[in-house]
Amino acid sequence: MFDMSNPQDVPIQYLKGIGPKRAKAFTNLGIYTILGLLYYFPRRYEDRTNLVTISDLEEGKIQTIKVQVLASGQRNSWRRRSFSITQAEVGDETGRVSCVWFNQPYLKEYLKPGKSLILYGKVERYAGRLQMSNPEFEIVSGPSPCEQGLGGEFNVGRLVPVYTLPDGLSQRTFRKIMKTALDEYLPKLNDCLPYDIRSRNGLENLAKSIINIHFPESLDLQKKAYTRLAFEEFFIFQVPLILRKLNRESKLGIAHKVDGRMVEVFIRGLPFKLTIAQERVIQEIKSDMVSLKPMQRLLQGDVGSGKTVVATVAGIMAIQGGYQVAFMAPTEILARQHYDKIKSQAKAIKIGLLTASIDKKDKGKILREIKEGKVDLVIGTHALLEAGVIFKNLGLVVIDEQHKFGVGQRALLPQKGINPDVLIMTATPIPRTLAITLYGDLDISIIRELPPGRGVMKTILFDAAKRQKAYKIAREELTRGNQVYIIYPVIEESLALDISGAKKMYAELKASEFKEFKLGLIHGRLKQEEQDKIMSAFKNKKLDILISTTILEVGIDIPSATCMIVEYAERFGLSQLHQLRGRIGRGSDASCCILISDAKTEEAVFRLGAMVKYSDGFRISEEDLKIRGPGEFFGREQHGLSELKIANPLTQMQLLKRAREEAVKLISADPHLVSRQNQLLKESLLRKFPEYEKLVFSC
Ligand code: ADP
Ligand code: MG
Repeated sequence: MFDMSNPQDVPIQYLKGIGPKRAKAFTNLGIYTILGLLYYFPRRYEDRTNLVTISDLEEGKIQTIKVQVLASGQRNSWRRRSFSITQAEVGDETGRVSCVWFNQPYLKEYLKPGKSLILYGKVERYAGRLQMSNPEFEIVSGPSPCEQGLGGEFNVGRLVPVYTLPDGLSQRTFRKIMKTALDEYLPKLNDCLPYDIRSRNGLENLAKSIINIHFPESLDLQKKAYTRLAFEEFFIFQVPLILRKLNRESKLGIAHKVDGRMVEVFIRGLPFKLTIAQERVIQEIKSDMVSLKPMQRLLQGDVGSGKTVVATVAGIMAIQGGYQVAFMAPTEILARQHYDKIKSQAKAIKIGLLTASIDKKDKGKILREIKEGKVDLVIGTHALLEAGVIFKNLGLVVIDEQHKFGVGQRALLPQKGINPDVLIMTATPIPRTLAITLYGDLDISIIRELPPGRGVMKTILFDAAKRQKAYKIAREELTRGNQVYIIYPVIEESLALDISGAKKMYAELKASEFKEFKLGLIHGRLKQEEQDKIMSAFKNKKLDILISTTILEVGIDIPSATCMIVEYAERFGLSQLHQLRGRIGRGSDASCCILISDAKTEEAVFRLGAMVKYSDGFRISEEDLKIRGPGEFFGREQHGLSELKIANPLTQMQLLKRAREEAVKLISADPHLVSRQNQLLKESLLRKFPEYEKLVFSC
């Protein structure tokens, strides 16, 4: 059973005004308990504070007046009998105005002559007179019944909250329910933010903040409430991350021998000079690796920014001290590409490849070599996570394209060693504040420049009517000996969506437009081996054109691919388009990405416009975040981002910083949250992130 006095336990249906049926509508919105309701914040507010007199009413404006009912009546529409029209004549000391409500027959009860009302709505002209249609209204009553200072009126005459509504409820009803919950449960709310943190940061207490976020007395108080609640969200989000970080740093890792000759020889042997950004990042990694604290570093860099070579340098630092390195990539193709590349660059080390598709005999051999310490660097896919993979001496783990792995999978590989260093790489770079919000348990390095010598990349947007022009550009590239990708959003054509799929277009283009060229088709429904075969054929220039779905998205590096056509470009996300585009422009030749789309929705136009305008991955992800918000961008559930309801890491950088500093202070003083003043916080945390119980609270 639950504790009726505790709002976090009480199911929503026990609130007055909510039965089982309404409760269902609330749970559909993720509101399960009273606490959930109190933390369900308004989407926006309407300012209905400005009372005017009737003589000040102006046609076309939305205004608020305080009046008395002079007369009222109701009739049914003569066209549709079931449709009711309620009318009232209201007045104040400056004049009279008429009001009309459609199909709200119950209103008659409230509109008795002599009653005082506040009305809020649009002023229109009807039959030569001013009138308000369907205004929101509030019956003016005596002084506030609620001790917290919530005024008696909560629909007009103030800043009025506007919510995203559960099915079947009006704003008015929802506000009433919210007010009931506030009246009954506000005094029972526990403030999870310790007092000294609040006072140091000038934050309001919880009760005051909750009431002013819903029914603010003034804009100023609303802002204060907002700040306090956003701080709380950041804080609760940071605490587990900091716990994890400090927990990890208290462990003894490996102090690698980072300055040996092997690193020097490797760097000197590279066919290019490292960029300044690569050098800087290598230094950051180096100082982590030389220290006894286990490294946990996130390396962010746009596609093609040269992260692999950085990871290889880190690998060699570990290897020259006698340790092994595990390098995990999300796909077979990528693992093989890394394997080939690193093998050709780092001749002095022994490298192995472990993927699901290697045959039994080879697998047995490589597993033995890993166990006996005969391979220095193992590159592989998820196959590395299998129980049969046992390292002799794992000193560094590299994870490429981390967003392709779950948090759980990411944690598995390091467990095959004793607190090895971990380097995590991502080609979906995000603004630093967001990175701190999400990956606050990691240290962050950023490469924000591409290696020199890359050809110019142009992005063009065409209507479908100009498809022939796109083909012409592709043909020019082909005759120069370069290669072309053509991307479709789906494999099979879809009649419902009226778009053609990769399969059909492959057959069509092969027979007509590009019949003198060699075409290949690749998509996710082909077996892995089949995909690999086609990919290597393209890589080895046995194919000129590759027709594909989005499986191309990640990491493939083929310098002679200089042209990409993306069909139905509006169907792809912005970051996804950027990743796709990253498949070309890898060599010294100029490249061209052609987006084909007829979409005219505002969002599609913005997205495709951003692609044409920006080539920098950081910039692209910022724009993408603007459209989708962090939740959608990352997939809500995985990152617990749904817990950030009002805090916005993109705009509230200072607040995030402060919340993080306070979290560090608190956890350093009380790592297991055992002190009395932290108990409410601990409860709150576990309610939001139950999975952290094991991870951080066990001593
Ligand atoms: P990503 O960051 O997407 O993983 P890669 O590591 O695959 O990028 O690098 C892309 C290409 O750039 C590779 O062919 C790589 O050899 C090359 N490269 C890396 N660093 C440099 C550099 N400093 N100068 C020139 N080319 C470089
Ligand atoms: Mg890469």
